Amino acid sequence: MCVPVSLLRNNALTYLGYSDSDLDEQTQEALHSALTHIAEWSAYKQIYTRLKDLPEAPAFLQQESYVGLQGKLDTALLFAATLGLGIDRRIQSLSLNRLSEAVVLNAVANAYLETRVELFIGEILPGGVLFCPGYAGTSPEGNRSVLKLLNAQKHLGIYLKDSGLMIPEKSMAGIVVAGYSFSCRACSIRSKCDHLRQGKTCYGKPAPHREESRNAKADNIKA
Ligand code: SF4
Repeated sequence: MCVPVSLLRNNALTYLGYSDSDLDEQTQEALHSALTHIAEWSAYKQIYTRLKDLPEAPAFLQQESYVGLQGKLDTALLFAATLGLGIDRRIQSLSLNRLSEAVVLNAVANAYLETRVELFIGEILPGGVLFCPGYAGTSPEGNRSVLKLLNAQKHLGIYLKDSGLMIPEKSMAGIVVAGYSFSCRACSIRSKCDHLRQGKTCYGKPAPHREESRNAKADNIKA
């Protein structure tokens, strides 16, 4: 799959927290190199299965915290993807003595994985999003179930460390679901959410509204 470079570049800049005008010459060069080579330095693989094709509904999806997905699971998929270990090793190696290049490559790798996943989802389930366990008050332990049901260690080489970190690190797993919008409004842990307090969200976007962050803080003070 061909990933438009302009889209990839924009997404990488978002990860870096930079705009074009912030980039010095050295960073421009590192970014250009990473964008040019990321496909060749990665070994993108993915796997998915439709929930309706499983012998039974995964137990973790019955948890209260997944109530926001109920009614949207008929067309949903379990999904996992990875860039493989090679890109992790390249980033680790760069970080030993060329830290700024490592930071740029890390951002480009994140953007490349996310963009490939989004493009694939657009094809397989238009209007779909990847809901990763750990979002919106759900337990990251759901990742273990997703990866096990997909046999992702065998097919993609992805496994979870005890800490919950996926190896290779540039990996994603979750439920692809249509008609779902990420929102903090109805989230059961909104009043205690550390992401919102920091002006972020668990789903990788800026906090939706400053007012919401303020409400989260106020609710927390009252609690
Ligand atoms: S960022 Fe929003 S959706 Fe995510 S856990 Fe916090 S309140 Fe919930």
